[in-house]
Amino acid sequence: MKRIYLDYAATAPTDPEVVKAMEPYFFEKPGNASSIHSFGQEAKKGIEDAREELASFIGAKPEEIIFTSGGTESDNFAVKGVVSAMFDKGNHIITSAIEHHAILEPCKILEKHGFTVTYVGVDKFGLVSLEDIKKAITDKTILISIMHANNEIGTIQPIAEIGKLAKEKGIDFHTDAVQTVGHIPVNVNEMNVDLLSLSGHKFYGPKGVGALYVRKGTRITRFLDGGDQEKGRRASTYNSTGIVGLGKAVELCRKNMAQEEKLQIMLRDRMIQEINKNIPEVLLNGHPKKRLPNNVNFSIKYIEGESMLLNLDLLGIACSTGSACTSSSLEPSHVLLALGLPHEIAHGSLRISMGRWTTEEEISQFLQQLPRVIDKLRAMSPLYEKK
Ligand code: PLP
Repeated sequence: MKRIYLDYAATAPTDPEVVKAMEPYFFEKPGNASSIHSFGQEAKKGIEDAREELASFIGAKPEEIIFTSGGTESDNFAVKGVVSAMFDKGNHIITSAIEHHAILEPCKILEKHGFTVTYVGVDKFGLVSLEDIKKAITDKTILISIMHANNEIGTIQPIAEIGKLAKEKGIDFHTDAVQTVGHIPVNVNEMNVDLLSLSGHKFYGPKGVGALYVRKGTRITRFLDGGDQEKGRRASTYNSTGIVGLGKAVELCRKNMAQEEKLQIMLRDRMIQEINKNIPEVLLNGHPKKRLPNNVNFSIKYIEGESMLLNLDLLGIACSTGSACTSSSLEPSHVLLALGLPHEIAHGSLRISMGRWTTEEEISQFLQQLPRVIDKLRAMSPLYEKK
C-alpha cells in the first residue's frame, strides 16, 4: 500500500537536497563555529551564509536573525524576552485566543508573574479584528503578538494593518509565522513586524532548528544564558548542521514557492468544493479565501475526528484533527471553540495539509476514500439519520 501524507502542517519531510547540503557538516566540517581554527571557521561560514539567505528571503538584515531550536523557542523567546526587557514601561500583553500553545503557555505563565494578558477573540472565520486590538491597547501595553496564519484552520491575519497600528502606538509587535515562511510571501517590513518566529521543519528543513527575527533597536532579554553565541543574545553551541539545512531549505523555497502555492491553491479549492458537494452536513473551518494554500479543515457532523483519523490511517492516509502538539488531549481544539463551534462539532474536525510532494492523484484517492469512511462511521453513529 502506497501511503499518502497529508499532514505537512504538523511537519514536512526534509528535502533530499537539504540533507545533502547538511552532510559535510556532520563529518568533514565538524567544527564548533566559535572556534578560531579552520574547522570552526568553515562551520561559521556555513552558518553566516544561511543567515544571509534567510535574512534576504524575509527582507531582514543578517544581524537581525537569531537562530533557535525551532518555533516554540522563538515564540517563548519573543514573548518572555520582550516583556522582561520592557517591564519598566508596562505589564500588558495583547494576543489572540487562537495562537499556538507556544504563545499561549508563556502568556499564562507571565500572568502568574504579575503581567496581564488580553486574548482578543476571532470571528467565525478565525479573523482577529483591528478594532478589538485597538480597544485592548492601554498605556501599559508593551507587546502585541498575533500569528500570521493559524496552524489548524489556515486563516491568514491582517498582519500589516495590525503592525501599522502597533507602530503608531509605539508597541512592539511579534508574529508567529511558523506556518507561512516558505509557503506564502513573508516580508518583515511590508508586515510592519518587530519580531517574527519561524521553524525549519515546516518548510522542508530539518527538525529542531528555527529562527527569531528581531528588528534592530528592539529591546529583548537573552533567552538562554551561557556562552556569547549569537552576539550574546542566545547561548549554546551553534547547530551548524541544522542551520545550514535551514538555509538550503530557504534557497529551495525561494525557487519553488510561487509554483507550489499555485498548485496547492488549485488542489485546496478542489477538495473544498468536492467535500462540500459530496458529503452532507459538513462545515468548512477557517476563511474561504484568506487561508493558507495548503490547508483544508472541515467539521464533519455526528462523528469524532479521532475515529476518522484512525480509519483513514488504516487506508494509508495521514491527516490530523488539529494541532499535532495537542493530539493526545481529548479536549476539543481551543481554535475551533474560539470560532464559536459547539463542543460536539469541534470534536469532529479533520485537517488536511499539503506540501511539496503532494500530487493530484493523491488528492483524488483521498477524495474517493473520505466519503466511504464517513458513511461507515455515520452508519454506526446513533446521532446520525440519513436524509
Ligand atoms: N507556532 C505554530 C503556528 C506552529 O504551527 C508550530 C508547530 O506546530 C509551532 C509554533 C511550534 O514550532 P516547533 O515545532 O518548531 O517548535
